[in-house]
Amino acid sequence: MSAMITLDNVCKKYGDFIALKQTSFEIRKGEFLTLLGPSGSGKTTILNLTAGSASPTTGRILLGGRNVTNEPARDRNIGMVFQNYALMPHMTVFENVAYPLLIRRLPSKEIKAKVYDVLERVGLKGFESRKPRQLSGGQQQRVGIARCIVYSPKIILMDEPLGALDKNMRDQMQEEIKRLHKELGTTIIYVTHDQEEALNLSDTVCLMNHGSVVQIGRPQELYYAPKHQFVAEFIGESNILEATPTGTEGLLRTGDEVLIRLPAPPVGGGPFKILIRPEKLRPVGPDTAAAGQANVVRGAVEFVSFFGGMTRLTLRRANGSLFHAKRISDQGAADAKPGDPVAFSWAESDMVLLKS
Ligand code: ADP
Ligand code: MG
Repeated sequence: MSAMITLDNVCKKYGDFIALKQTSFEIRKGEFLTLLGPSGSGKTTILNLTAGSASPTTGRILLGGRNVTNEPARDRNIGMVFQNYALMPHMTVFENVAYPLLIRRLPSKEIKAKVYDVLERVGLKGFESRKPRQLSGGQQQRVGIARCIVYSPKIILMDEPLGALDKNMRDQMQEEIKRLHKELGTTIIYVTHDQEEALNLSDTVCLMNHGSVVQIGRPQELYYAPKHQFVAEFIGESNILEATPTGTEGLLRTGDEVLIRLPAPPVGGGPFKILIRPEKLRPVGPDTAAAGQANVVRGAVEFVSFFGGMTRLTLRRANGSLFHAKRISDQGAADAKPGDPVAFSWAESDMVLLKS
């Protein structure tokens, strides 16, 4: 498979400050890659370097195998979609979308046909003569997307495009972006700090922190096989226990005497960090929770959060730490109340050993 975008040992400094540490990765043709990470982790820096609005301090950038490191932005033919839409307020929807084609000096008949086609694609047929201020946030972002796809760029960069929208509109627009990506087959780099958005949209998620890539992989890989505590905590909810080997093979113990039996004994002396996802916990009765049982935590219900289809239960353990359990809501079942004693168990195969 051919690489559409290559970052080859790219580093970006502003004075002494390193915005992006030495980074290398490849994005396949047609791939949807999301840069996910907290604010300031270097996501927009990667977009700027790819687009050519910033140049790397060291390293090379290749598009379709061609070294464009020293090529200006206008020669890269990359489409951009921004969080603040960046529409021209005095122009109509039609004029905004037609603008990139006017610059490219296409004949007016062709411009008209292309603009009408993309407006239909993004669900804005009939809105041609409106001004941006006469549109909702979601509609304005559809204009932003239409203006980007109208000239069929091979690469589209999107920087938190749904950041200004409310949750329902974000969910709807995520589905539209997925559909457009499937229809157009364009290579996309998408930036967000919203982990659910990243998991839902992407072929590949690249998790960033402090100017470095922490882990890059399929959404399922980052969720089920996080390599580090940062990944486990940034993506999804997590329970993390720290434990050391007991001397019995495969059996570990936490500081507060929770026994852990791993499917295979870990290499080294520990302490080891072990991740258990909240949805993997099963409530167990007092017998199973008796002392000496492995893979059980006990505590008192701290609070119960009902989210409709899902209920989240937080338990406080004797050592004061919190543990989270999630389950599908059950209308008939009596809900646990704060203060109730509870115990939860999990399967050996549901544990993930973290590196750090
Ligand atoms: P993100 O998009 O992940 O929030 P950015 O890539 O925009 O983060 O920024 C990464 C870091 O680089 C931040 O600490 C930011 O303050 C810094 N930075 C970005 N652009 C500049 C610049 N032009 N001058 C100095 N520092 C910058
Ligand atoms: Mg940013």
